[in-house]
Amino acid sequence: MDNSEIADRLDALSTLLELVDANPYTARAYRRAAETVRGAAVPVAELVRSGRARELRGIGPGIEARLRELVETGEIAELAELERELAPDLVGLGRYLGLGAKRSVDLARALGVRTAEELREAAAAGRLRTVPGIGPKTEARLLEALAREAEPRSQQGLLLNRAWELVGGVASALDGEPAGDVRRWRDSCEWLAVVCAAPDPDVVLARFAALPQIVAVVEQEERRSLGVTVEGVPVELVAAEPDRFGTALVRATGSPGYVAALEPLPDAPDEEAVYRALELPWCPPELREEPFRGEPPALVTPDAIRGDLHCHTTWSDGRASVEEMGRAARERGYDYLAICDHTPAVGAVRGLTADDIRRQADEIAAANEVLAPFRVLRGSECDILPDGRLDLPDDVLSELDWVQASVHGGQRMPRREMTKRVEDALRNPYVRCLSHPKGRYINRRPENALDLERVFEVALEERVALEVNGLPDRLDLSGEHVREALRAGVQIVCSTDAHSVRGLGNMALSVATARRGWATAKDVVNTRPLGSILAAR
Ligand SMILES: [Zn+2]
Ligand SMILES: [Zn+2]
Repeated sequence: MDNSEIADRLDALSTLLELVDANPYTARAYRRAAETVRGAAVPVAELVRSGRARELRGIGPGIEARLRELVETGEIAELAELERELAPDLVGLGRYLGLGAKRSVDLARALGVRTAEELREAAAAGRLRTVPGIGPKTEARLLEALAREAEPRSQQGLLLNRAWELVGGVASALDGEPAGDVRRWRDSCEWLAVVCAAPDPDVVLARFAALPQIVAVVEQEERRSLGVTVEGVPVELVAAEPDRFGTALVRATGSPGYVAALEPLPDAPDEEAVYRALELPWCPPELREEPFRGEPPALVTPDAIRGDLHCHTTWSDGRASVEEMGRAARERGYDYLAICDHTPAVGAVRGLTADDIRRQADEIAAANEVLAPFRVLRGSECDILPDGRLDLPDDVLSELDWVQASVHGGQRMPRREMTKRVEDALRNPYVRCLSHPKGRYINRRPENALDLERVFEVALEERVALEVNGLPDRLDLSGEHVREALRAGVQIVCSTDAHSVRGLGNMALSVATARRGWATAKDVVNTRPLGSILAAR
């Protein structure tokens, strides 16, 4: 059993535990363990057999016992039990129809059905109204929803990292290409699609329906299928004729507006050939949001990034030490990494005082001895206090190589006050970058009321850069705001805000978001060599 198979089972267990409203902490612990296993560099099954599974981060005795059961018997009894009990395909269909998990299960029990197909039959036979609690209105709504299953209802989108995991997993299992919102790196993905080249579509459609990620197929045509996950997330599969694969991929990647502006599309086996036949240059997927037929700019690429300027360590709420983070950054091929732990005002987690910052300097110096010529930079993610002052005195800030200023508490301030608060912080001569400027959490917390235009003016005057934070639930600035910042002449920084070694991998999300905002390498501060970063102090 390889790491990804083990991770899939842990993910499934996490999902089903969420469905039965188990302790949310437990469900999350399994989800995190799945991530750890998926990212582990060694075969986890071997670690488990030799009793060393707990060397992996986030694996405690409970999860270790489940892992041992899985490796030894090929199954987790609790998971098998939950799958029997919950009929995941029913739950997937129910969620897709707008019912909660519990309601779906209750409904299935009352009707005595076990599968999505049986539910459809029971509905068609008029049996829904026999279920207590389902009145004529609900019945009509469900019948209507079943009738138009083909059109996915707009749901809350999936965060980009989860969407990539899902769509990437489906695509690689079917030797296809990820498409839809994911391929454009939208910050919240609703349209999840995979395109396969298929001489015989039946084979691919059958393999798709049998994937562990797909619990029910809600619509099938000759060369297209729509499946749902246990969370009720629709995933579309296009099984293209091989000589039209490129055409299908262009259609399944661009926004409807972008694709419509290119139609009629010629048939071609690959994308390059499609664009060639249209006499257009190939267009990076990130730019296929609005109609666009011109020459795309040379967008920044992940290879151009020379260092990461925002990460945390065990000094605040990170999970790795200064040296571990530095070593991991060096392994990524970077030249530098700025350690930007929190300051006390952040509240919820430990923050570093002036004293701590100076003690941390010794640890950073020691790491630099070991890692040279790679350079760990002394930095801070310094809170912007409600009155616009910074949470560390200037004499400490002046010692640092890189200062990020961040609004954490008090985000609900009115626009004028919030803008003044940030403006004051940007006037501080030691501040180099404004972190996660809009303060949003995707699908959870709206943007704060900051007047970005004003912030751009001040940032330009003070030569402060704006961050494109790569945490999957932040992606802040957004692509749209990156574009506005660049038009205003402001520089950006692509950062991960990593709280672990693995978190450094979110650079891909940050860079893709910058690309959605049309950023080229020269717009991005951390494409520059160390000397230039330090000289600008
Ligand atoms: Zn922050
Ligand atoms: Zn941070």
